Amino acid sequence: CFYSVISKRGNIIMTEECVKGNLYIVSGPSGAGKGTIVKRLLEIDDTVALSISCTTRAPRNHETDGVHYYFLSKQEFEDMIAKGEFLEYADVFGNYYGTPLPKVEERLAEGKNVLLEIDVVGAMLVKDKRPDAKLIFIMPPSFEELERRLRGRRTESEEQIKTRLSKAQAEMNRSDEYDYVVLNDEVETAAQKIKAIIQENYGK
Ligand code: 5GP
Repeated sequence: CFYSVISKRGNIIMTEECVKGNLYIVSGPSGAGKGTIVKRLLEIDDTVALSISCTTRAPRNHETDGVHYYFLSKQEFEDMIAKGEFLEYADVFGNYYGTPLPKVEERLAEGKNVLLEIDVVGAMLVKDKRPDAKLIFIMPPSFEELERRLRGRRTESEEQIKTRLSKAQAEMNRSDEYDYVVLNDEVETAAQKIKAIIQENYGK
């Protein structure tokens, strides 16, 4: 894209090429602290826009429709699949989760670095479609710490925790398919590391 500065008389004073944003995927096991890191990243880096996913899972207590997710019925979600409105979607823990495409395109064109917080299956689907996407894996300090965090959240049943832990192990085993692995031992450090990765790639 190009933008021009135009004088009051309508003459073009200068034309410059816009810096196009990059597409980032952030994955990591449930409870790895992804959400907190991404929240902090949005505060310290105004080039970043977070894509809001659609899901058919029920909202948790503190979650708001249109902020954390677009909460849809199964029928609404399947209608969007049929219309080809997702960049990717996957079945995670028995619910649909998906990235609506138009907003992502819009934001990239505006020069934003767009961040998708999605699972490993979705990440690989996006990588196939968009080889330029950069993949960041957020690694919990240890499996024990992950279990502690997941239990501390008190939003899942014992059975759901077990499912999430076994998926976590499987996801951690695939971290070598990512371009960057960021250790989450401290939120601020992890957020700064991601900010540095984004700056290093900006305009490329
Ligand atoms: P949660 O239910 O804890 O919010 O999310 C569960 C999992 O779904 C997380 O691993 C999260 O990254 C993933 N997820 C969230 N949105 C999407 C999406 O749009 N697509 C895919 N493939 N996964 C998603």
